[in-house]
Amino acid sequence: MKDLNPVITGRKTSIFEVMSRLAIENDAINLGQGFPDTDGPEDVRRVAAEATVEGPNQYPPMMGVPALRQAAADALQRHYGLSYDPGDEILVTAGATEALAAAFSAFLTPGAGGEAVIFEPAYDAYFDMVEGAGGVVKPVPLTAPDWALDEDALDAAIGPETKLIVLNTPVNPVGKVFTQADLEAVAKRALEHDLIVVSDEVYEHMCFDGRRHRSIAALPEMRERTVRMGSAGKTFSLTGWKVGYTAGPPELIGAMARAHQYLTFATPPSLQKAVAYGLNKDTAYFDGLAADMQASRDRLARGLTEAGFGVLPAEGTYFLTADIAPLGFDDDVEFCRRIASEAKVAGVPVSAFYHATNAAPPSNFVRFCFAKQDTVLDAAADRLKSWIDR
Ligand SMILES: *Cc1c(COP(=O)(O)O)cnc(C)c1O
Repeated sequence: MKDLNPVITGRKTSIFEVMSRLAIENDAINLGQGFPDTDGPEDVRRVAAEATVEGPNQYPPMMGVPALRQAAADALQRHYGLSYDPGDEILVTAGATEALAAAFSAFLTPGAGGEAVIFEPAYDAYFDMVEGAGGVVKPVPLTAPDWALDEDALDAAIGPETKLIVLNTPVNPVGKVFTQADLEAVAKRALEHDLIVVSDEVYEHMCFDGRRHRSIAALPEMRERTVRMGSAGKTFSLTGWKVGYTAGPPELIGAMARAHQYLTFATPPSLQKAVAYGLNKDTAYFDGLAADMQASRDRLARGLTEAGFGVLPAEGTYFLTADIAPLGFDDDVEFCRRIASEAKVAGVPVSAFYHATNAAPPSNFVRFCFAKQDTVLDAAADRLKSWIDR
């Protein structure tokens, strides 16, 4: 047989898979994987159920059902003052994941440099997806403990082959919300070097302590070079649905659509209709989501602090970063293996969110997901405390 794609076949079993397996084997509380343990709004689910029964359930339009494209455009206008034409500036995909895959395969040129600047720690899929699309990853570390943007490192990563910058705010895994100054620094480079910005904003409605989400697309001249992605999975706590929506100028959305037509082509129409209904909800829903998540963050932060962890600020997302150095540990991977099997709580080592070329990622941080019921968060904190005090 001829060789298979070495980039894909060379992928290792991810640390997430390893930790999830350990969690199952040990009957551990899984704060590793990022998903809520209660389903999102019942009315949204009912719209999906009714639309499935009523039909039609045949291939919807490749760009997405008109009601969802309109609702996504309306939501962007309402929340951020951004105007997009639902006709050719919004694309519906199978989750933000497919949108990312479509963007990388549309914007990178295999074999021709095609470099993508990625801030790390980063959502792990970016690295493999960029490389799978034939691109080259240029990582730029954010500096702990506040995950500050290092403008010199950003400048050093950009070269003549750079095609795009991947921006994720709020940041999975560490919960940083990019400040206005951060966004301006990224925009300045994008304009200077004529780069596309792939802006992953799936946690847009999970910003805490009065912070408001800002899209880089709202900065001067940035709308024309930015594709910004949202996810119904995250916004409606329905991660299994995999419905995403990307907004951008027609040229970029058109290129993504040409990739999408041979990736999945379309997304279940009944789910799209339900997400359209959901996006039209009034601000109380979106504010309530942030308030609920913030309360969960505070609850887990309290529990972990009482157990002896250092707890870093989490400005957004589902995730809290715990510092294990105060507990006398310095190997996050080993620590996660031990707590999964001994304390019966699973987390994810933050070093797993760095590109392989980073020789010395920080090794004293663990990501815990707090999108869980209070009783689950309390039980996890109790187990960790008993293990630490053993
Ligand atoms: C969950 C997640 C995604 C994927 O979203 P889906 O809509 O489930 O495909 C993309 N980016 C980040 C940062 C995420 O955390």
